[in-house]
Amino acid sequence: MARNPNATPVPVERGSSPVVVTDSRNRQLRDLRISVTDRCNFRCVYCMPKQIFGRDFEFMERADLLTFEEITRLARIAVAHGVEKIRLTGGEPLLRKGLEELVGMLAALRTPEGREVDIALTTNGSALAVKAQALKDAGLKRVNVSLDSLDDATFKAVNDVDFPVAKVLAGIAVAHEVGLGPIKIDMVVKRGQNDQDIVPMAAHFKDSPYILRFIEFMDVGSTNGWKMEQVVPSAEVISAINAELPLEEVAANYPGETSVRWRYRDGGGEIGVISSVTQSFCHSCTRVRVSTEGKLFTCLFATDGHDLRALIRNGCSDEELSAVMAGIWRERTDRYSELRTATTNEIRAGKKKIEMSYIGG
Ligand code: SF4
Repeated sequence: MARNPNATPVPVERGSSPVVVTDSRNRQLRDLRISVTDRCNFRCVYCMPKQIFGRDFEFMERADLLTFEEITRLARIAVAHGVEKIRLTGGEPLLRKGLEELVGMLAALRTPEGREVDIALTTNGSALAVKAQALKDAGLKRVNVSLDSLDDATFKAVNDVDFPVAKVLAGIAVAHEVGLGPIKIDMVVKRGQNDQDIVPMAAHFKDSPYILRFIEFMDVGSTNGWKMEQVVPSAEVISAINAELPLEEVAANYPGETSVRWRYRDGGGEIGVISSVTQSFCHSCTRVRVSTEGKLFTCLFATDGHDLRALIRNGCSDEELSAVMAGIWRERTDRYSELRTATTNEIRAGKKKIEMSYIGG
């Protein structure tokens, strides 16, 4: 087992096709989401509630985190298995020191056919104004920015750290200026918290270069107190906007796209809805996730992951790592959102689902 970890990469020569892997439902592995930190400077109530993630919460030590070299190695192997998009998440990924360096390492990867890999990032936007240019220069292609309201009081109540909307909007503007687009703005809609802001958000971002997306509040993890009645179905979101700003549905950009696209009939741009609760999309889910300390998860609502860090730090070869990753995907059966009901949480009592702040969206 103890081979030199710097052994030659997975034997897939440039110009040949990737060793494509499909799971038990014939879903091809295409998207890799990598959480680079479990820390965040926000305490969004639906993701990282303060009462759980307070001052005494023990975040991971630096030595526990995958290094940039380990992340890049995993990514290189995943790309050899068909991954074409890599999304960096967290916690808040811009808190990870030297993130541009990792972006540069990932941007150097090529698919077996020689194509660039699409490197994207999901952020709360708090440090975007400062970091956007360096990330762009390192090879980052796109950013998604979470913004749950334009109303400062509502936004501060959601992020629970008094962070102002204006700073996030400033970060979005800089990211646009440096060319990290099309920028997607993600709003998690929770009834009784920010559903009154659906139409104002749409009106604000209409006729802008940004794509606003409305995400149904999900029962990710087991700390956000999720209830079905707090979910605002996407159909309701669309009809609220359509009543004031007429919309028409648009075809997906690619198979497996999580967002359903709509555009303003007057040419005023595009919005999207992500409906994991009311219109599940598990049938076309091509996403795998790696946590900050190197566990592989095949579903956002998983309870258990596969420890790849142990394999790596025990000196396994690329071929062994590749075989393990491919094997995990091939055995994948996940379809949580198809099975979800208002009582799914009780049924899974005793097995804690992974937290959004740990694995990223
Ligand atoms: S619930 Fe799991 S399998 Fe279904 S779309 Fe989400 S991540 Fe994919």
